[in-house]
Amino acid sequence: MTATLPEVNNENGVAVRCHSVTKTYGQGTAAVQALRGVNLEVRTGELLMLVGPSGCGKTTLISVIAGVLGRDGGDCSVFDHDYKQMAEVDTTRFRGRNIGFVFQTFNLIPTLTAAENVAAPLMINGAKRYVSVNQASEVLEKVGFDRRMMLSFPQDLSGGQQQRVAIARALVHNPKLIVCDEPTSALDGETGHMVMELMRRLALGKDRALVVVTHDARIFQFADRIARMEDGRITQVENPPSHADSPTNIT
Ligand code: ADP
Repeated sequence: MTATLPEVNNENGVAVRCHSVTKTYGQGTAAVQALRGVNLEVRTGELLMLVGPSGCGKTTLISVIAGVLGRDGGDCSVFDHDYKQMAEVDTTRFRGRNIGFVFQTFNLIPTLTAAENVAAPLMINGAKRYVSVNQASEVLEKVGFDRRMMLSFPQDLSGGQQQRVAIARALVHNPKLIVCDEPTSALDGETGHMVMELMRRLALGKDRALVVVTHDARIFQFADRIARMEDGRITQVENPPSHADSPTNIT
């Protein structure tokens, strides 16, 4: 089966649906039950933040949602596609077309310029070099990069600039779903705000969705909903606090 996205035309559509999802690492006495029956729905058009103490399963959950890690049990579909029903090659293609990943530590390739880092996923998907670099430059412009910055290597960019490159790389193939693992924790408050504003502006749309794992209470205001996770389960889904009563830390 070749994966293509169905049209999702309304803002109340569902981007991700997880039901009783389980995942255990290791076996026997070394087994760690990271997900113990996760139920979660992410709607199209929303930015959902996933919060909870370290080790509660957040990274495992977004890895399952992004299709980079298999689940053991339960159901999980992304835009009505279940990775378990797809051949591996289709899962890879589906991910390559429809999902963007932003990491805490940026994960840029040090020997490539900013523009080449952003163009890389397109080239991996088979696009020609000049087409990929042009497309990469357009997205880098949207995150505020000028020509000189585009030709810089990661080591010559600040943390905020590197994260903007990582965001551009996650956005360059126009994915329907972006998952971010602690995207602001290595950034100062002001840069973190700028990054979240960019994410909302560039990654959201009525048929798109954004899932952000974070400990960073400074950015809760950018969420449409906050899902709290504890010990491998979602315990609560709520609206974000207003800016004024936002706590300073959640763990
Ligand atoms: P969080 O992102 O909330 O910090 P994780 O999803 O990274 O939580 O981890 C959930 C649990 O699974 C933790 O107890 C962690 O130690 C364990 N874990 C995560 N990855 C692995 C792995 N590759 N092998 C074994 N245990 C793991």
